Amino acid sequence: MTVELICVGTELLLGNIVNTNAAFLAEQCAALGLSCYYQTVVGDNRERLIQTVQTALSRSDIVLLSGGLGPTKDDLTKEAVAEALGLKLVEDEASRALIAEYFKVRGMEPTENNWKQALIPEGGRAIRNHNGTAPGILVVKGGKRIILMPGPPNELRPMFTEEVAPYLRTLGGDVIASVTVKLTGIGESSAETKVADLMEKQENPTLAPYAKTGEVHFRVTARAKTEEEAAALNAPLVEELKRRFGTAVYTTDEAVTLEKAVVDMLLKKGLTMTVAESCTGGMLAARLVNVSGVSEVFKAGFVTYANEAKRDLIHVKEETLAQFGAVSRETAREMAQGAAEAAAADVAVAITGIAGPDGGTAEKPVGLVYISCYVCGKIDTQEYHFIGSRMKIRESVTAAALTQLRRCLIA
Ligand code: ATP
Ligand code: MG
Repeated sequence: MTVELICVGTELLLGNIVNTNAAFLAEQCAALGLSCYYQTVVGDNRERLIQTVQTALSRSDIVLLSGGLGPTKDDLTKEAVAEALGLKLVEDEASRALIAEYFKVRGMEPTENNWKQALIPEGGRAIRNHNGTAPGILVVKGGKRIILMPGPPNELRPMFTEEVAPYLRTLGGDVIASVTVKLTGIGESSAETKVADLMEKQENPTLAPYAKTGEVHFRVTARAKTEEEAAALNAPLVEELKRRFGTAVYTTDEAVTLEKAVVDMLLKKGLTMTVAESCTGGMLAARLVNVSGVSEVFKAGFVTYANEAKRDLIHVKEETLAQFGAVSRETAREMAQGAAEAAAADVAVAITGIAGPDGGTAEKPVGLVYISCYVCGKIDTQEYHFIGSRMKIRESVTAAALTQLRRCLIA
C-alpha cells in the first residue's frame, strides 16, 4: 500500500515553522511497512488544497493530512477535502458533545466558530483528540483512505500513535522492524569496510550505516508479516555485527546513548566521577547530565579555561603550564589527577585543546587536543587531531572523551 502526506499551512511554506509532522509521519509510515512516494506542503488556500488532495488521491492508496482543522477562517482543510471528494459536511454529534464538554470542564464558553470543528464529511468518522478540540477525521471513499489530523505536534503525534497507526495496521501489509547497532571508537569508512560483504548481499534485512559525531550506527531493518518474524530476521545480522565489532559496540538499544552507556558502566562499578574541561567548556558535563540518574555518579565539573583556574581549582603545577603549555599531555594529565582529588571522585576526565579557528600555531595547530582519563589511580592520556568548525571540534572532543573513558572502564 502506498501512502502520501499533505501538510497544510502557509507558515510551513514560508519556512516560519519546520515541518516536523512530515518527518514524524514519514518515519511512522515506514515502520508500518507503507511506501511513501510523495510529500506535499500546501498553503491555506482552498483551490490549491483541493487540487493537491485530488492529485494525491489519484496516485496513492492512503492520504494523510496535517493542519488546518482549527476553528478559524484560514483553517479549511476539511472543507477542501469534502469538496475534492464531492461530499457534504455534516455535524458529528459525538464531536459536538466533546467540544461542549471540553469548554465546560475549563469553565469557558465556546465561540460560534468552535462548533465548526464538529463538522465532518458525510460518511466519515471522527477520530478523538485527547489533547485539543479539533477531532481528526477518517474518510473512506472509492477504495481510498483519507485521514485528517490537527497541525499541533502535541495533538497529531498521540492521535497518530493511539488511533491512526492501529487502524493502518488493520489494513494488512507488512510490518517493518529495526535494530540499531551503535559503535564508538571506529571511523565510518573502516566500519563500512569491515562489513562490505554484508552490505553487498543485503536484502531482507537491509543494513544501513549512519555516521554521527564520534559514532557509527548500523541500522538493521527487516520486513515481514509480523513483528516477531521481522525481529527473527534481524537477529542473526545483529549478532554478526556484534561479533565483528566486539567492544566497539556500546549498545543495540535505541534508547541508549553513548553517555548513558558510560554512566551505566560507572553505576555498575560503583564509581563516582568528575570532569575538568578547557576547550569543551562544560559540554562533557552537559552530555553526562543528559542521563537521568547520573547524580549517583557525577559529583562536580570544573570548567578551567584560564591557566589560573587550572592551577587554583585543580592544582595543575605552575611549572607544568610554563614548560609544556596549557595544551599538552602533561597538563591534561595533571588536570585529571587534580580534578579527581579536588572532587574526591574515583574517576576524572580532563580535556585541553585548541578549538580554533584562531589560536593555532605550527607546533600546536587548531584541533590538537589532549584527553586524560584518571580511573582509580591509573591515568591514560591520548593526543587527538580534529578538524572542522569550532563547534564541530568541541562536539568531536566531547564524544572522544566519552569513548576514551569507556575504553578505560572496559580495560
Ligand atoms: P489549530 O486548532 O491550533 O489552529 P490546526 O489543525 O488548524 O490547529 P494549523 O493551524 O495548521 O493546525 O497549525 C497550528 C500550529 O501547529 C502551527 O502554528 C504550528 O505551530 C503547528 N504545526 C502545524 N503544522 C505543522 C507541521 N507540519 N509540522 C510542525 N508543526 C506544525
Ligand atoms: Mg489552525
